[in-house]
Formats: sequence, structure tokens, C-alpha cells
Amino acid sequence: MTRIADLLAKGPTWSFEFFPPKTPEGMSSFDRAVADLSALEPAYVSITYGAGGSARDTTYDLVVRVNEEQAFPAMPHLTCVGHTRAELVELLESYQANGVDNVLALAGDPPKDGSEAGGDFVFATELVELAREAGDFSIGVAAFPEIHPRSADRATDRRHLAAKLNQADFGMSQFFWDADHYRQMVDELADLGCTTPVLPGVMPFVSVAGARRMSAMNNTQIPTWLQERMDAVGDDPEATRQLGVEVATGLIVALQDIGVPGIHLYAMNRARSIQEIYDNLGLRR
Ligand code: FAD
Repeated sequence: MTRIADLLAKGPTWSFEFFPPKTPEGMSSFDRAVADLSALEPAYVSITYGAGGSARDTTYDLVVRVNEEQAFPAMPHLTCVGHTRAELVELLESYQANGVDNVLALAGDPPKDGSEAGGDFVFATELVELAREAGDFSIGVAAFPEIHPRSADRATDRRHLAAKLNQADFGMSQFFWDADHYRQMVDELADLGCTTPVLPGVMPFVSVAGARRMSAMNNTQIPTWLQERMDAVGDDPEATRQLGVEVATGLIVALQDIGVPGIHLYAMNRARSIQEIYDNLGLRR
């Protein structure tokens, strides 16, 4: 049994995030990336959950398989919006029965067409409570340094975030491009009496259009210097990937200066950028 809360207590941890592939080729890339990145001995990895549960079975199967095959634990992301209580209890109990001791408890997003999500849940805190009842999990939750897009204002966002983190064992942040956003969030949480560790999420982007689109979706500010560097690489895939590695490396150094409980890297089922970040930081043995 490896609980992420225990790993963080000994920290700092290094962890990688994967997503459930939709095609046989995608599955080969996933397997290759996990095999290549296992050489870097992550503390754990996490696997995302398809919006509205679309990749539910794939996430489950991959988490159980990686847990069985690798020396490190795999943590499932799990969203509750649109799910019934019975569905989630069944899934959580199955995870626990199969040796999965960690879960990232998320709300998920309501349907994009504005229709009712249905199901028994609205907020992530309800899933944290359910996971506590359903098993002996180490529970993580999401944190948004630049405020969750559905939050009315900063103070309300921080109040709900602090309450959620106080119920959970650790937090994991959305990506950001300036370490000051992370520092400010941690300071604001501390002012509210919340000291639950929050892992910064770092994304080595491989596509300028993708990085800009995801930043816009999450209200993540792209600093002017980065906009200019993104403009300069244009459509060149390798120059873009190298810029992603350079930016992620610089961000990690800045975060280490602040003092962080670990670094969570969005590997996006690719090994090369992560390997290069490790090389840049002198972490590869
Ligand atoms: P919540 O914590 O419930 O917050 C959502 C909004 O509700 C916030 O504005 C919050 O301030 C507000 N709120 C919270 N509690 C209350 C309350 N009691 N009363 C009023 N308002 C309240 N999505 C996926 O579909 N699959 C994934 O695998 C996935 N992985 C993610 C991993 C990370 C690290 C992060 C940061 C996000 C991830 N997401 C994923 C996205 C996430 O599901 C969405 O951002 C979703 O909109 C919010 O989820 P949450 O858990 O932060 O929600």
C-alpha cells in the first residue's frame, strides 16, 4: 500500500500525468511512455478521466494495470458530475479491491451544451466525502492558482478551495506560466489557515495552438515574453517542443526556489520532453 500523502511527507515527489488513449496506436504510445518514464523512478503517476465519464473504463483498466506492473502507484482522476452515487461507490470499491489506494477527487465539468448534468453530485467536496466512506484512500483535489473559471471572485474561490483542501490529503494544481501565481495561491490559503500541500502542475507544451487554447479555457495568463517566444517558434513542431521544455525547466527552478512539496509534470503520454527536463535539472541517474 503506497499512499501519496505518505510519499509527500517524505517528499519532494516527482510525478507524471497520462491520459487514457482512444486508439490502438495511442495505447502503444501510452505503454512506451510509461516504460520509458519508469526509468526516471517517479513517486507515482496519475491517469485522467474522460469528461462525463467517456473514458471511464480505459482509465480504470490502465490504473489497475500500471499499479500491478510498475514499482510506483498509479492514481486515477475521478469526476463526480453526471454520476450517480451508486456508480461511484462501485468504482471506488473496485479500485480499493484492486490495490488502488489513491484517488484525485474532482467535480468535472457540466455538459458544454448547457444541458443538465444529471447525477447526484455538484462539487468535488462531495466526492471527497464519498471516497472517505467507500475506502481507505489518500485523496487529492484540484487547485487553480489563477482561480477556477466558474468562481465568482477570488475570495470565494479561495474559501471553497481551502475548505476542500482541509478535507483532502493533498492538492494538485492546474498548469500556469508564472510561479508567482502558485506562490500567491499558497500564501492566500495559508492566510485562511490551510496548509495542505498543493503540488504545482507543470506542462511542457508541444503545440503553441494547444497551449494557447488550454490557457484560454482555464483563464491562465500567458506572459508577454512567452507570447513572443510562442510567436517566434510558429508552426515548427521541434522548436515548439524545445520551447516547452525550456519553459517547464525554468518554471520548476522558480518553484523549487519558493519551496514546493513536489512537481507534477503533465507528460501527455510522451517521454522525451520529461527526459530532457530531467537532464536539464541534472536529475537523470
Ligand atoms: P470544485 O472544487 O467542485 O470547484 C468547481 C467550482 O465550484 C469552483 O468555482 C469552486 O469555487 C466552486 N465551489 C466549490 N465548492 C462550492 C460550494 N460548496 N458552493 C459553491 N461553489 C462551490 N477534468 C476531467 O474531466 N477529468 C480529469 O481527469 C481532470 N483532471 C484534472 C486534474 C487537475 C490537476 C485539475 C486542476 C483539473 C482537472 N480536471 C479534470 C478539470 C476539473 O474537473 C474541472 O476544472 C472542473 O470544472 C472543476 O473541478 P474541481 O474538482 O476543481 O471542482
